[in-house]
Amino acid sequence: MSPTQPDTVLVTGASGFIAGYCVEELLRHGYAVRGTVRDVSRTEKVDHLTVLAAELGGRLDFVAASLDTDEGWAEAVAGCAYVLHVASPNPPAVPRDEDEVVRPAVDGTLRVLRAAAASGTVRRVVLTSSSSAIAAGRPEPKGSHHTEQDWSVLENCSPYEKSKTLAERAAWKFHDELPESRRFELVVVNPSLVIGPLQRAEVTTSNEAVQRLLDHTLPAVPRISWSLVDVRDVALAHRLAMESPKAPGNRYLCAGPDIWMLDMAHVLAAEFGPRGFRVPTRRLPYWAMWLAARFDPTLRLALGFVGNPDRLSSRKAIDELGWTTRPAAESLRDTGQSLIDHGLSRPRG
Ligand code: NAP
Repeated sequence: MSPTQPDTVLVTGASGFIAGYCVEELLRHGYAVRGTVRDVSRTEKVDHLTVLAAELGGRLDFVAASLDTDEGWAEAVAGCAYVLHVASPNPPAVPRDEDEVVRPAVDGTLRVLRAAAASGTVRRVVLTSSSSAIAAGRPEPKGSHHTEQDWSVLENCSPYEKSKTLAERAAWKFHDELPESRRFELVVVNPSLVIGPLQRAEVTTSNEAVQRLLDHTLPAVPRISWSLVDVRDVALAHRLAMESPKAPGNRYLCAGPDIWMLDMAHVLAAEFGPRGFRVPTRRLPYWAMWLAARFDPTLRLALGFVGNPDRLSSRKAIDELGWTTRPAAESLRDTGQSLIDHGLSRPRG
């Protein structure tokens, strides 16, 4: 490859929240990027990236490929040096049938890896897994510490957690069994709950909690805590995982410190209260949350987060990749501001 020709990176699911920031991170660092989308005619989902690439003078193109079929994947990886496999279903509610999330996650991951192995050009694949593949349904008491050595326990997992655990396990197995002649390097990034400013006007599943606090659609705050991580820092982790000589064969937890939802509410209330946003700062008792969850699918999803947080250690990513994160309060303020800027949250008076 001539020094003037940058490496091309395939980013799957370019229309998604995290993938969009990965595209941005790569363009800003001089890579040529190809994104996959399910439907190339839905340009409104990726127009913001096309505009950004033009502003930066970067190379960006899109190809159609679905996790549900083999079609398109060989074309997608052709000529790419790296693949960031980010696409996977991340629905806002628990699906009726777990196969709606498990099948695209597992089969789609194998489709991408098979195409990478057959390409003859892909040197490294970075797979976006999740802390849901590490800490879900573990037998230790809630509040225990978790590292990359842990794996979620399938029998106790929600469909989404199962999809991430099975997809990551399938990836490592596939990689272990590859003949030397077709081998590429594999790295896995395991983010916790990802929040951050939106690149386009569509609320993502993981930003919904911030929106509901700003919009006062939660009357009070459940005793939930999360390890939040900023989408911009998650994109950085993907690039570092792609570039670092230490990364191959490793999984990296990328998780900020735990924060209670009530503390999130206080940060948002301090910033946006004076601008007319009635952010709730009273505690919602568990019984009331449980009752409301019968009618509210997002609250039902959140029931699993009630109680003490699982402590997720990002020590390995910090030490080996040189990963850095910003404070949760900054992410929360930026997320809130972006919801307002995109017209997705308004003061309620
Ligand atoms: P997102 O905004 O919903 O993006 C998901 C992407 O996957 C979209 O581009 C979507 O395409 C694509 N996709 C879904 N099903 C597909 C299918 N069957 N075929 C092709 N593409 C499909 O979600 P996100 O938050 O960015 O999540 C991205 C990745 O990060 C996922 O692997 C998720 O599990 C992981 N993750 C997310 C979080 C979080 O808190 N957000 C935390 C840890 C890990 P369409 O636009 O066409 O729907």
